[in-house]
Amino acid sequence: MLPSRSLRQLAVVLGCSAFVTAALAFGQTPRLGYDDTPLQPDGKWRIHDSRRPLPRVVTPGPVVAAAPPGDALVLLGPGSDLSQWQAGNGATPTWPMSEGVLQTGKGAIQTKAVFTDIQLHVEFATPAKVEGEGQGRGNSGVFLAGVFEVQVLDSFQNPTYADGQAAAMYGQHPPLVNASRGPGEWQSYDIVFTAPRFSPLGQHVSPAVATVFHNGVLVHNARAFWGPTAHRRIDPYVASTARGPIRLQDHQNPVRYRNVWVRELREPDEP
Ligand code: MG
Repeated sequence: MLPSRSLRQLAVVLGCSAFVTAALAFGQTPRLGYDDTPLQPDGKWRIHDSRRPLPRVVTPGPVVAAAPPGDALVLLGPGSDLSQWQAGNGATPTWPMSEGVLQTGKGAIQTKAVFTDIQLHVEFATPAKVEGEGQGRGNSGVFLAGVFEVQVLDSFQNPTYADGQAAAMYGQHPPLVNASRGPGEWQSYDIVFTAPRFSPLGQHVSPAVATVFHNGVLVHNARAFWGPTAHRRIDPYVASTARGPIRLQDHQNPVRYRNVWVRELREPDEP
């Protein structure tokens, strides 16, 4: 067994947090997630499984500005206000906004419009000053149809359970790789989302599917959600999830958003 000093040095080399370093120093296995949650539907891992391998780190390419296409609905942009957004109870959102940059505040906010299938561009930045660890560091989230979360987290040298790190389809699928930028840096998600389908009687026909690029790197390739996002469980599909708003999560960490735009996806012969 390595002496604790060597373990600390190893942890620093691996870029682990102080929490992990401390755990190693005391000879404990870092507890990143859970081992008492239900198995996921494919039976391979538990929800938020502590033992699930973390995606390998990939350094993304340089930031490329992505101006919205002409038919996009701009939800946040230079000079825009919060007129496209509301609090969950329909009230005017209180999140602070300045010069096109929105910061998370009390309670989730969501678009007034609801969507089915979409292309969505989101830019976000976790706090430049690193505070907290694991799920408590730069946590927010982009919820598709209001209930399917693509996780926002500071996952730059901040281990947590694999299906809860940045760009995870939270509690379900880790990203293929960890393409996170550092704390305070602007990052992007480009998401193609197909909403779930239901029969006229409300029976579930097909799942919600997402393709996600994190900082231009593919992290989910047409991957299905097993159901609406939940913590320590997976909820069943219900017909109300066939359409919904884009929702931004308040997880009590100050996360910034800018340049958010959406395109509704329709075939040329659809109305
Ligand atoms: Mg979150």
